[in-house]
Amino acid sequence: MRMVVALGGNAILSKGEKGAPSEIYRNIRTSAGLLAGPIADNEVVITHGNGPQVGYLLEAMMSVSSTYPPQGIDVADAMTQGWLGYLLQTALEEALEYRRRAVAIITRVLVRGDDPSLSNPTKPVGRFVSKGEAEELSRRFGWTFREDPRGGLRRVVPSPEPIDVLEAPIIDGMLRDGLVVIAAGGGGIPVTMVNGRLVPIEGVVDKDLTSSLLAIKLGADKFVILTDVEGVAINFGKPGQAWLREVSVNQLKKLYLEGHFPPGSIGPKVLAAIRFVESTGRAAAIGSLDRAPDVISGSAGTVVVPD
Ligand code: ADP
Ligand code: MG
Repeated sequence: MRMVVALGGNAILSKGEKGAPSEIYRNIRTSAGLLAGPIADNEVVITHGNGPQVGYLLEAMMSVSSTYPPQGIDVADAMTQGWLGYLLQTALEEALEYRRRAVAIITRVLVRGDDPSLSNPTKPVGRFVSKGEAEELSRRFGWTFREDPRGGLRRVVPSPEPIDVLEAPIIDGMLRDGLVVIAAGGGGIPVTMVNGRLVPIEGVVDKDLTSSLLAIKLGADKFVILTDVEGVAINFGKPGQAWLREVSVNQLKKLYLEGHFPPGSIGPKVLAAIRFVESTGRAAAIGSLDRAPDVISGSAGTVVVPD
């Protein structure tokens, strides 16, 4: 069976951790241990988030920016794909007792040059800054800042729709060769075609939407999103909260349009699952990383089935 498994932030950092190498290593090893069973006899692509790590790199570059000009988000994304990809590949090979090789691939994702998000950046990156700092950074680097609902100003960047994963055909070959592939880290590096040349976009593509597109492109039999809750709930955090166990894609679409799923968290996961199921007629699952084997086999989490 061929599948794409998207790992959430908790595969890399636990709540309250700052990101010491030992913490990241421990979490990734634990995640790899949970995935080893389901990976063993299947063609598997692992994708992962990079929010805190790309935030850290952008911040680190900013703190030395008077001496070394900061690199773009595309480069920071590539750095996190290398960083986390290297750790994941090492941990996965170990968890598989060196019976399979794992490889991380730098992944670019094509977006439209006229994507509406490019002129309306909304995705916050990096830390909160003061008004004075925001003005200074806007002047020096042309960055856009916005009030964050939690108070203070944060840099915002576009979050365009993924329309193609450029490395998908290469990943397909790697899977056929028996490799475990780590791809599309952080949702991939957004690029667009301008006058026949690929140019980077200073933005962030949602990792679940890119993972869904990759799963579709690869003809995956299953698409799985692992996160830090047991599945998708209606009335989440409110009276009457109920986890969805098995839900048809049309029913889930209806709930999505009714606004049950907030855009910054579970919303894109639900949309990613809907897109996969609608386009392939196969099932997708959203569930807890802690129960990865059960979520992958369909005995835990929320399973989205075709109508
Ligand atoms: P990840 O980092 O794993 O990719 P996020 O942290 O962005 O994912 O999103 C997962 C979070 O979404 C959960 O921790 C949960 O608090 C939140 N969430 C919001 N609404 C819902 C919902 N309706 N059902 C499940 N989780 C929800
Ligand atoms: Mg998270």
